[in-house]
Order: sequence, then C-alpha cells, then structure tokens
Amino acid sequence: MSARSHTSMTDFELAMYYQFSEVQKRQQYLTMSFFADKAVIVGKYCLFAIFEGEEYLRSFEIEVIVSHDFPNIPPIIKETSGKINRKIFPHVYSDGSLCLEVKTKIILELRKNPTLCFYFEHFVDSYFLSYIYFMKHGRMPFGERSHNDKGTLEFYKELFGVNSINIAREFLIILCERNLKGHNPCPCLSGNRYRNCHHDKISALKNSGEFYLFQNDYKTITSGK
Ligand SMILES: [Zn+2]
Repeated sequence: MSARSHTSMTDFELAMYYQFSEVQKRQQYLTMSFFADKAVIVGKYCLFAIFEGEEYLRSFEIEVIVSHDFPNIPPIIKETSGKINRKIFPHVYSDGSLCLEVKTKIILELRKNPTLCFYFEHFVDSYFLSYIYFMKHGRMPFGERSHNDKGTLEFYKELFGVNSINIAREFLIILCERNLKGHNPCPCLSGNRYRNCHHDKISALKNSGEFYLFQNDYKTITSGK
C-alpha cells in the first residue's frame, strides 16, 4: 500500500483501504493499489472450504479491478496464473474475466451487502469452489447457469418466483413495458387474478432503486434476437 497521508486520499480510497483491511484478515497475500480512480487488488487468493464433507484448499492468482462506482458496477476479476481454462470450464468471458454470476444479480446482492469482504466470500469463494468441484465431478455443485440471455432469464425466473423462463420473460415485459390490469389471470398460471398474485411483487420491483437494472436487461434481451 502507498504511504500517502489520509488527508490526500479520496473518499473512495479511504473506503477501499478500510474494506481491504477486512479482506486481508483472511487473504493476507493480496495487495491493493490505486490506478486511474480504480482500486486494483492482486496476488494469491486462498480458498479454504468444506463442501459436502470434502475439503477444498487451493490457491489462485487473481487480479480484481474495483470501480469507483462499486457496488453499482461490480468488480472485474481475472485469474492470472492460467488455472481456469476456458476450453474446459466455460464460465469465463471472452476478455478472460471470470463469470461469477449474472451481472444484475451481483449488483442486487452487493447493494444489500456493499463490501469487498462479501464480494470475495460470497462470489469469489463459490466460483473457485465450483471450479474445483467441476474439475473433479464434471458438473457444477450449485446448478449451472446458462450464458447470455438465457442465463439472465434464469435469474429472472428466480427473482419472480416462476416456473419457466418463458413466464419470466412475460413478467419482464410487464415490469418494463406493458402494464397488466389486475383482473387478468396471472401469467404465472396459478389460476389467480394478477392483482391477488404477482401484482405486488412486480410493482415493488418497478418502484425499487434497481428498476434501471431490469430495464437494461430487458433492452438487451429484446434487442438481441
Ligand atoms: Zn402469479
């Protein structure tokens, strides 16, 4: 870390120093520096976990770039020692960064828990655990998320609490573009009227501070194919 006095630090730098000191309690081989308004965390990341009675102990080399707008922009993480092979393990973006989760889901979770500790313990630990598990068992331990629009819709399926991605797509349209009158049958096929079923959930999301995220996803999905 740099030896600059606290008076010359920005609020972002101060917050990152504080948060990073918490991360270092578990990850002492990581270091942090600042570059062009971003925090850059590099070094050896150690995973230690017990899952399904098996012990997981492995280290990875990581580079994490934390934006000034954290947590509204999620960090970008790469594994730099080449351990994660995209040909074998597909959850890596074309630029080499790791696909930890659907972006909107990461932002929603980070806004509830806006700390680097949570980011590492919640997303990075499960990613590396999944990787080791996958290499050993040939499948993902927590269920596999599809890529691109399908993966996004799978996330909305969970968010809306519905049974299929087609119904999730329909609710996303209702959320972002077209209102549905309360007396209509609910698109979730429960047999109830919309007003007595999903209406409150959808309008809560519409009025939430995260609505812009849903709109962005909706635009991406509808502009695609
Ligand atoms: Zn419903």
